[in-house]
Amino acid sequence: MGIIRFLAIAGLIWFGWRTLNNWLKERNSSLEKDRNPSLQADEFSDILEEDPVCGKLVPRSQAVRLEIYGRVFYFCSKECCETFRKEKGEES
Ligand SMILES: [Zn+2]
Repeated sequence: MGIIRFLAIAGLIWFGWRTLNNWLKERNSSLEKDRNPSLQADEFSDILEEDPVCGKLVPRSQAVRLEIYGRVFYFCSKECCETFRKEKGEES
């Protein structure tokens, strides 16, 4: 076995070990987030909904929810929700 082949194998082992270490570190930090209740949100937390009034994107967990005509709308604030409801009310 030549020295070059030996170095290549050593390099591969080192690279694999480093990758595994990084992966474990990332995994640990995400587990810490899961354990922290303040960072824990419901399963829809990262789904963004577009506010139909102002066009802002709001995470579902923080949005103001309105069910109207069998549809669910999400708003960035109560003000937008009220505006939307008034507009819908005028239409019908
Ligand atoms: Zn809005």
